[in-house]
Amino acid sequence: MSYRIAKNLDSALEALKEKDPATRIVAGATDLFLQEMPARLVDVSSIEELTAIEEIDNRLVIGAAATHARAAASELIKGRAAALVEACLQVGSPQVRNIGTLGGNVVNAAPAADAAVALVALGAKAVLVDSSGVWREEAVARLYSSYNCSALDGCTELLVRFLIEPCGQGEGSAFRRFAARKALALPLANAAARLKLENGMIASLSLVAAPVGPAPTRLIGTEAAILGKPAGEETWLLAAETAAEEVEVRGSLLRCSAAYRRHLVGILTADALRAAARRAAVSQSGSLT
Ligand SMILES: Cc1cc2nc3c(=O)[nH]c(=O)nc-3n(C[C@H](O)[C@H](O)[C@H](O)COP(=O)(O)OP(=O)(O)OC[C@H]3O[C@@H](n4cnc5c(N)ncnc54)[C@H](O)[C@@H]3O)c2cc1C
Repeated sequence: MSYRIAKNLDSALEALKEKDPATRIVAGATDLFLQEMPARLVDVSSIEELTAIEEIDNRLVIGAAATHARAAASELIKGRAAALVEACLQVGSPQVRNIGTLGGNVVNAAPAADAAVALVALGAKAVLVDSSGVWREEAVARLYSSYNCSALDGCTELLVRFLIEPCGQGEGSAFRRFAARKALALPLANAAARLKLENGMIASLSLVAAPVGPAPTRLIGTEAAILGKPAGEETWLLAAETAAEEVEVRGSLLRCSAAYRRHLVGILTADALRAAARRAAVSQSGSLT
């Protein structure tokens, strides 16, 4: 087995050039080592470009190897993409959050990965580079190919960073999840919302729930049902009902029934919307949340 710690992007790409199917990128290893032990590992967790959290040209730029703990503690993210902070704070336990990364969360491709759900609701773009040095940008939801299967080529493609348009005035976001315990339990369901209010009405919105398909899924029907409606309890109730009807859920003997998960999606969706609207209203009065 070989384990190479890449100090910069060039050396990581160099290691991927052989296109060896036995090669895997590793960051925190909290998912990878539970599933497989590849023969050649390229550790990207100390590449500065992959760990930085910055604001550039009015966009949040978050390195793929930023840990959940660092993202959750980032004042830059807190003020502009609160849903991501809330999601990262609920991953696993302090130990898992200290080494698990946002990039690993997305590339591992679990449908209800907490940070991934928030990133999709926030409209995040992923920036990738392959071993030939070709760069591309993709919406995060497009990085999933099927259940627990990433669209990335695991031995040649590197996820470098995420780009997020920060929430501006009148905008807010929030993330909610339900799990059997408060820590060290995967979510039975989660939901995230980003919305913009104009004169108390919902002017735009992005609503995501999981696990209701192979990837974090936009609730298009629910979005359409409440767009243009006033931000208030009647609308959140309508959203809960529509979301619960709209989603295709699977039950499991180990975790929960399909009916219970459907019910949870409704409740979590409404609560994420309620919290996002509260933040949007506060930000309209000048201070970002
Ligand atoms: C006890 C425990 C509890 C957990 N609880 C939760 C939870 O509550 N919620 C949740 O969402 N997750 C949870 N997880 C899952 C895991 O911690 C997260 O998904 C974490 O974010 C994975 O990041 P990582 O850096 O450890 O990824 P790794 O394990 O290093 O990698 C995961 C996958 O991503 C690939 N990869 C990593 N970085 C890159 C990159 N930059 N470019 C290309 N490919 C890359 C790897 O090759 C691998 O295929 C838990 C895990 C454990 C062990």
